[in-house]
Amino acid sequence: MNKPVLTIVVPCFNEEEVLAETSAQLSSVLLELMEELLISLDSKILFVDDGSRDRTWELIEVENERNPNIRGLKLARNVGHQNALLAGLETAAKHSDCVISIDADLQDDITVIHQFIEKFWEGQDIVYGVRDSRETDTYFKRTTALGFYRMMERIGIKLVPNHADFRLMSKRALDELLKYKETNLFLRGLVPLVGFKSTKVYYDRKERFAGESKYPLKKMLAFAFDGMTSFSVAPIRFVTFIGFLAVLISAIAAGYAITQELLGHTESGWTSLIISIWFVGGLQMLGIGIIGEYIGKIYHEVKRRPRYAVEKDLYTNILEVKQQS
Ligand code: UDP
Ligand code: MG
Repeated sequence: MNKPVLTIVVPCFNEEEVLAETSAQLSSVLLELMEELLISLDSKILFVDDGSRDRTWELIEVENERNPNIRGLKLARNVGHQNALLAGLETAAKHSDCVISIDADLQDDITVIHQFIEKFWEGQDIVYGVRDSRETDTYFKRTTALGFYRMMERIGIKLVPNHADFRLMSKRALDELLKYKETNLFLRGLVPLVGFKSTKVYYDRKERFAGESKYPLKKMLAFAFDGMTSFSVAPIRFVTFIGFLAVLISAIAAGYAITQELLGHTESGWTSLIISIWFVGGLQMLGIGIIGEYIGKIYHEVKRRPRYAVEKDLYTNILEVKQQS
């Protein structure tokens, strides 16, 4: 086998505090792999600037000038982690045999990249980085994450537990992944759908090197809800089930009321009336809300809007110039 060209894709949103350090650490890993003749000398690190409002892009340009293996892609505006990652993957796919995605904050243990590459050499198409412990996450984040995986499993969505977006994909697996054209991207739900041979590598998740999480609670909840409704109609089914239950309960209540009436014990009736109005009203709102969520998803999908726009490309252009000369 020829030595594979590796591209490490790193989405960055306001990461000026960590960029230089991340770049230095990833470059040394890349260099080691090159020295061990495990990857091609054309391998690259690709930083994707997801519309940062700080000096992230300038720093990427500086890194690129200093080290030609470091490349950058500047998106025209902030499109969120998943779409930024997609932009990097689509760009990298054209010139790589395998791609590793990793966050910019050094929370994922970059020393296991070595194992990723070894597994790739052994013929694996997808290598999932799986967090061994989440000790550095807050208790809250740990329990909510666990609850999330449990719930997803229950409603039939196959996820690799404790795997975020730290993974290696071969060119052919990546090409298949890139055929999924959905606007509501949830990559870690899609990757297992691709198939091919896959394996896991375990590592300890560290604390953010610097800066703060770009996933506050509100975004995390939205992400979880998106993941759920993008992959399953179980929530709609749940509503149907509750509706059915409500009808059943009302039927029993009606039977009781009619018997009471026939026996001559007429009730004043206000309590039961007001309760059922609120109850049924609430159910209807819940049902409409969930159905609305799906219709909203359909609305976004049918528009087929582009998922990101590239403002500057310090990956492809440089490669093409090199290939022409
Ligand atoms: N990120 C991004 N666009 C966004 C938000 C985040 O590209 O709109 C990047 C961010 O720079 C980081 C990765 O996505 O590299 C994960 O974000 P973060 O570390 O803040 O999330 P957490 O680890 O807290 O879940
Ligand atoms: Mg992080």
